[in-house]
Amino acid sequence: MPFYTPVDFDYYAPRNVDEAVTLLSEKEDSVIIAGGQTLLTLLKLRILRPKNVIDLSKVSSLRYIKEENGEIRIGAITVHNEVARSQLIASRCGLLSAAAGRIGDEQVRNRGTIGGSVANADPSANYEPVLLALDARFTLIGPQGRREVGAREFFVDAYTTAINKGEVLTEVKVRELSEVGYSFKKAARREQEFAIVNVAALLWLEGDEIKDVRVAVGGVTARPERLDGVEEALIGKGKEAIPSALSSVEYSGKPISDVRASSGYREYLSKIYLRRALEEAYARAKGVRS
Ligand SMILES: Cc1cc2nc3c(=O)[nH]c(=O)nc-3n(C[C@H](O)[C@H](O)[C@H](O)COP(=O)(O)OP(=O)(O)OC[C@H]3O[C@@H](n4cnc5c(N)ncnc54)[C@H](O)[C@@H]3O)c2cc1C
Repeated sequence: MPFYTPVDFDYYAPRNVDEAVTLLSEKEDSVIIAGGQTLLTLLKLRILRPKNVIDLSKVSSLRYIKEENGEIRIGAITVHNEVARSQLIASRCGLLSAAAGRIGDEQVRNRGTIGGSVANADPSANYEPVLLALDARFTLIGPQGRREVGAREFFVDAYTTAINKGEVLTEVKVRELSEVGYSFKKAARREQEFAIVNVAALLWLEGDEIKDVRVAVGGVTARPERLDGVEEALIGKGKEAIPSALSSVEYSGKPISDVRASSGYREYLSKIYLRRALEEAYARAKGVRS
């Protein structure tokens, strides 16, 4: 019989980041909870049996969205719906709004946090390819102090990030974008579910030619991947180059086979969604320049 209640644990609700970091290092076998949308299930099924649970949701200083020196800074406990509905993010970084607005359902978006999602690093999570394409930076605070990690280093493997034991992820930062076409595509069996494949594309035009492009895919392999070959095949070309650029799709990791889809289906689907994403990003870029 499966369990549906957690083992007993001590609960702590720090009021600031310093307190949270101290608790994490002082209390052995401790785990952070933020929105609880992933962690509670792991506790209830007793997949995790920590002695101490440290609740970040009362650290209100970590709940913000602000603009500073051309960057958008998002506090770790900002919930998905706040990201999705932020006017600032919509106007300066539409790709991020699009991804946040398509996470799970309304309840998940009202409770789940950006920090919890990226710390959990589910290969099918919406934010992963998006934050990789955006070259996001992550702020981590631990007993050794503060450090910043870029997206290419942050996502290490499935459910594994660069966050060290004892560290708290406090902020996600992305640069504001201008004159960019973007697209986020999610292929899922049902809209409220995790994706089989997610694609994020950013594209800049000079006339009809692609001046720069960034494309990242999530869900195919254990961590989100930037498709450098596809990007190189598109720069300096027009829209007609999109279908042939897809022959340069190459994943560095091993494609995943699981209950959601086989590896072959994921690779096949990724090419279809890549084409759609690049075409949409191109059309949007045309729109912002005309
Ligand atoms: C029904 C359902 C559907 C979903 N669909 C989608 C979907 O379509 N797309 C998608 O992307 N996600 C989906 N999710 C996951 C959702 O986005 C969760 O919000 C997210 O995975 C975890 O965020 P959380 O704040 O709830 O974190 P929690 O569950 O509280 O924590 C998750 C993990 O992150 C760690 N953690 C949390 N915050 C921090 C921090 N600041 N620093 C260090 N470690 C931290 C915790 O210790 C834990 O290991 C779905 C979830 C559910 C329940």
